[in-house]
Amino acid sequence: MPVVVIGAGPYGLATAAWLSTAGVPRRFFGDPLQSWHTNMPQGMYLKSVPAATSISAPEAGYRLEDFRAAQGLPPVGDFYPIPVEEFIAYGRWFHERRVPQLERQMVRSVQAVDGLFGLTLDSGEEFLAEAVVMATGQVAFAHEPPELRGLVPPHLVSHTSRHRDLARFSGQRVAVVGAGQSALESAALLSEAGAFPTVIARTASIAFGEPPSTDRPADRARSLRMVKPGSPLGPGWSLFACSYGGAAYRHLPPRVRTRLLHTVLGPSGAWWLRERVEGRFPVLCGSTVHSARAEDATVLLDVVDTSGRTETLQADHLLLATGYRVSIGRLELLSPELRSAVHTFGGAPRLSAGFESSVPGLYFTGLAAAPAFGPVLRFVAGTGFAARRLTHAVVTGTRHRR
Ligand SMILES: Cc1cc2nc3c(=O)[nH]c(=O)nc-3n(C[C@H](O)[C@H](O)[C@H](O)COP(=O)(O)OP(=O)(O)OC[C@H]3O[C@@H](n4cnc5c(N)ncnc54)[C@H](O)[C@@H]3O)c2cc1C
Repeated sequence: MPVVVIGAGPYGLATAAWLSTAGVPRRFFGDPLQSWHTNMPQGMYLKSVPAATSISAPEAGYRLEDFRAAQGLPPVGDFYPIPVEEFIAYGRWFHERRVPQLERQMVRSVQAVDGLFGLTLDSGEEFLAEAVVMATGQVAFAHEPPELRGLVPPHLVSHTSRHRDLARFSGQRVAVVGAGQSALESAALLSEAGAFPTVIARTASIAFGEPPSTDRPADRARSLRMVKPGSPLGPGWSLFACSYGGAAYRHLPPRVRTRLLHTVLGPSGAWWLRERVEGRFPVLCGSTVHSARAEDATVLLDVVDTSGRTETLQADHLLLATGYRVSIGRLELLSPELRSAVHTFGGAPRLSAGFESSVPGLYFTGLAAAPAFGPVLRFVAGTGFAARRLTHAVVTGTRHRR
């Protein structure tokens, strides 16, 4: 009976690459990089630097730089923002070379069957699996602030994850809620496509990262590297600890973990985004959307600032760049019995050191594992840590169960 990996984003592909050398029967499902293609805007650039944006494989030759070399492209450093289209092409190249056995099908449901897992595919095929790795990504966890839920008709409000083509809003006024990279980059793309965005941010000001001091981190002065060591999540000791301390992170009290997850990399735009935001469209800082209502096919938003003053803003669409919150209850792919059997904290699965949930044989990776192992699991940079540990645990677990 196979071990199954569901999802073919960076985490699913990395897990599949590592598992395929482990000598266990296996099947991998998903459309490679589908959420990068469908649920992120065209024209977007990655915030992470090339050196921190490779999908992990157990052997050399599959990094982003190897892909670029294979395409005849020159090496790039920290000054190079990766276009999303390049990352998608890299992911598909990784899939074709490293995980060709991927079955391009969606899994319709997973349920518990006498200590095993019963899977149904979109094709209608049903089969049993010994272990299941959930690498289904963040889209199911798109967060819409509860206070805005149900106030305006669904066609007037949407989460950023529902959009690939922001040019469809050309000529429209779009209120963008959020203060992070997704809000700022969506607003920049909207503005550049002829729409009229207004960003509504709870934070007192908008933050942007600092441009790197050199293209290659190794070229930075040694004294600077001692004070602010480089890491996949960025320079500085706290980011260094989160990048390399995933195993220790799991032992912090759950409340501390949740707080760190939301604060270590607070909302901010990439350094290269600043000139596409400042002075280009209104940004209302220290502002909260208090209520929303529909009027004449538009949205009226009551926006309250820190002094308690309310301003009413009219928009043709309300775009929620409000991020993602892990909640196992929202993974409809899992049967209700499986969902309720997974022990959680704050909605996220409690995981062993090997990414196994309280249901033996059911593993979670990627964003669903970030509350357990820390912010690095929100980024492609975490694929190596996750895939190595998870593969070891799956192999040990399957031997143990036999
Ligand atoms: C706008 C935006 C920008 C980002 N920028 C960066 C960045 O610059 N750098 C960075 O490192 N990270 C970035 N991230 C985070 C990035 O999304 C994650 O690092 C990465 O995608 C996580 O990989 P994953 O495999 O867990 O999830 P995903 O990439 O979402 O892949 C999950 C896959 O599972 C598939 N799937 C779901 N359900 C099923 C099913 N039932 N059957 C089969 N397949 C299924 C989906 O189709 C999807 O393709 C960004 C995220 C967003 C939203």
